[in-house]
Amino acid sequence: MSAEKCIFCKIARGEIKVDPIFENSEFVSFRDQNPQAPVHVLLIPKTHYETILDINDEGLLGRAIQAVQTSAAKLGLAQGGFRTVINTREDGGQTVYHVHFHILGGRYMQWPPG
Ligand code: AMP
Repeated sequence: MSAEKCIFCKIARGEIKVDPIFENSEFVSFRDQNPQAPVHVLLIPKTHYETILDINDEGLLGRAIQAVQTSAAKLGLAQGGFRTVINTREDGGQTVYHVHFHILGGRYMQWPPG
């Protein structure tokens, strides 16, 4: 999927409007349109990487975790906890090929996931 057609690139460019939980020059987080938990937010880098296997910026994942921390705090999830998920390729259940962190909370998360 080219960055031009990618749905999350359109969100990053502001062509599809979302209500950001957190945003800076590099990341934006927003609510998942098909929530799987009482709180379900996606954090995306604004740069297009199809999967985490394609990331060539070694600092990006650390900065993404900082953005997850900020998003979770804004969502009131920091104290009770939450789950962070990155699905990768077919067996990982990835459907949108632009790297994204799921932030799931507001209920107890079972383990193992399906
Ligand atoms: P994954 O299956 O890990 O690739 O997750 C993709 C997620 O993106 C799914 O949970 C979808 O519900 C979500 N999603 C797709 N398009 C949008 C959109 N326009 N706004 C919010 N969430 C979206």
